[in-house]
Amino acid sequence: MPLVTTTEMFKKAYDGGYAVGAFNVNNMEIVQGITEAAAELRSPVILQVSKGARAYANHAYLMKMVEAAVELNPEVPIALHLDHGDSFELCKSCIDGGFTSVMIDMSSKSFEENIAITRQVVEYAHAHGVVVEAELGTLEGVEDEVVVEAGQASYTRPEEVEEFVTRTGCDSLAIAIGTSHGAYKFRPEQCTRNEKGILVPPPLRFDVLEEVTKRLPGFPIVLHGSSSVPQEFVQMVNQYGGNMPDAIGIPEEQLRKAATSAVCKINIDSDIRLAMTAQIRKHLFENPSHFDPRQYLKPARQAVKDMVAHKIVNVLGSNDRI
Ligand SMILES: [Zn+2]
Repeated sequence: MPLVTTTEMFKKAYDGGYAVGAFNVNNMEIVQGITEAAAELRSPVILQVSKGARAYANHAYLMKMVEAAVELNPEVPIALHLDHGDSFELCKSCIDGGFTSVMIDMSSKSFEENIAITRQVVEYAHAHGVVVEAELGTLEGVEDEVVVEAGQASYTRPEEVEEFVTRTGCDSLAIAIGTSHGAYKFRPEQCTRNEKGILVPPPLRFDVLEEVTKRLPGFPIVLHGSSSVPQEFVQMVNQYGGNMPDAIGIPEEQLRKAATSAVCKINIDSDIRLAMTAQIRKHLFENPSHFDPRQYLKPARQAVKDMVAHKIVNVLGSNDRI
């Protein structure tokens, strides 16, 4: 099948009590690793591209690689989504360039400004058969060009969501309930430590999610910044020459719980980066004579595939849904 929008995907995910993974793509090995995992596990999947990925790889390369993945995995529903569009022009460029979904993130602006620009994107997108994700509330952390300082983030205010969705016409809504971008989601002083000395972050605000769901019955909710930063990969990075002290993510069991609710899309990027980098570091450390990129990119691609497969089965619950 050709690239699809997320409309059908989200309806099935909402009714089925699971979520679809949205994984960021930046190069060929990542595209291959994600889509091979999705195909083997019979899971729908969202490939998403940030402004930074477009700057790194070029729109045309990303588009052609995704087209190749679609051609090679005809049974898998694949959506191509712009992550954190920061202007109408960027969204328009992706819509014109073949994306099936875009995010317009005006969450750092005033409520009225967020509505006005989101509405403008929705009108253009819908006229071209493309769906739109918007955001209310802000997440802490760093993701490509999006930087929100600690303390500047705010939870979504449930009392705003009905008016926002009605006035913008957006198709899904990213909310802030305590997830965060990057591999350093919380400062150590925001956390407790378990008996092994590993940081334990504050729990997600499921009360906010429940209140939003009550006000928007049947409406797909999106969680950004939902990597778990598995400690075995952090340790692998540190063991083979890296330095990632106190990297921390969202515990997978909390995301699993979110996936069974109105949350239909869960964004995972840092865990893929971490798995890939840990594997490359290990490979080069153990094989100091290797200089053919295929020698370390092949296991790196496998690490992406394994991580995505783990998320599909253990966090999203989207396996065997096609
Ligand atoms: Zn995000």
